[in-house]
Amino acid sequence: MSRTIVVIAEQRGGQLRQVTLETLRAAQWIRSEGDAVSVVAIGSNLTKLGNALATYDCDRIYLIDHADLEHYNPEAYYQALSPLLGELSPCAVLLGHTSIGRDLAPMIAARLQAGQISDVIAIDRGDDGMLPRFVRPIYAGKAFETIEAASDGPLVVTLRPNNVQPAAPREEGPAAQIVSVPYTPSASLRTMVRDVVRKTSGKVDLTEAKIVVSGGRGVKSAEGFRPLEELADVIGAAVGASRGACDAGYCDYALQIGQTGKVVTPEVYIACGISGAIQHLAGMSQSRIIIAINKDPDAPIFQIADYGIVGDLFEVVPLLTAEFKKA
Ligand code: FAD
Repeated sequence: MSRTIVVIAEQRGGQLRQVTLETLRAAQWIRSEGDAVSVVAIGSNLTKLGNALATYDCDRIYLIDHADLEHYNPEAYYQALSPLLGELSPCAVLLGHTSIGRDLAPMIAARLQAGQISDVIAIDRGDDGMLPRFVRPIYAGKAFETIEAASDGPLVVTLRPNNVQPAAPREEGPAAQIVSVPYTPSASLRTMVRDVVRKTSGKVDLTEAKIVVSGGRGVKSAEGFRPLEELADVIGAAVGASRGACDAGYCDYALQIGQTGKVVTPEVYIACGISGAIQHLAGMSQSRIIIAINKDPDAPIFQIADYGIVGDLFEVVPLLTAEFKKA
């Protein structure tokens, strides 16, 4: 019997977020022969986004396009999505493990009476006939568990950004069909999002950044973040922080990485003046290469760092910036 796997697309200002393509790749990976992969995008002015999505390998793209859906609103997005999910009755729904995905996924799971597997970092497709297995970190990243989905129920999965290769544009075959889904704002909506003011860590989105330069209490002041920002500018990185730095008022909580902050998986994570508490590691330990700069040779961060520099960050960081400027 033909089944449908649904990918919930994420966009910002009409631009597709990379995590959508990673989630699409995961859907392509877990689909069995005959399964359809549908992408659902919710927002405003989605025509360009729909056309961009149609260049990827999926069967159908559903656009729920309405001015009232410009900004994420859990209630409105859920109301927009719910009838379509009822109609499609998907065997799996995949979302990014982002702030939106984390918010929407449990609502979708409840709607579909589905099990949910959150924060997946790897998928084992297994041999033919086997059910996919999902790997996720537990105990703040100290251990990993592998979960096999039950065969008889729908499944909701959130995928941690930057862990799966993004889907590549299709080379051949017909473009995916684009379907417009009507949406009428319900009179029962209790909330409306008028505007979103983003606090960002610079030009690069922290959760999607390939390189993150992160500062801890060792930066000592808001001013102390300046050398980190300069380095980040030169190497095209986003700036992050430990909770220690946020609590001390050196930077905004939007930059916080860790168990109670953002989870990042960049190619390179540069930790400056961060001790390496378990709660911080929960948000960055899956980074491909970890570089730690700390003046304490016994700082726990060195236990997980691939490269460690024992030294004063106010000397080391400007030297790195100067070297990268030459490159
Ligand atoms: P510190 O532990 O004070 O480390 C500062 C480091 O800077 C030291 O290692 C020091 O040697 C070094 N240093 C000082 N000066 C210099 C210099 N000039 N050059 C180089 N190195 C220098 N933390 C998070 O980060 N994210 C979370 O999401 C988070 N969630 C939490 C949730 C709970 C429930 C709890 C209880 C805690 C949480 N924490 C979180 C806090 C966490 O336990 C640590 O307190 C915090 O990560 C410490 O931040 P830090 O490494 O910046 O500061």
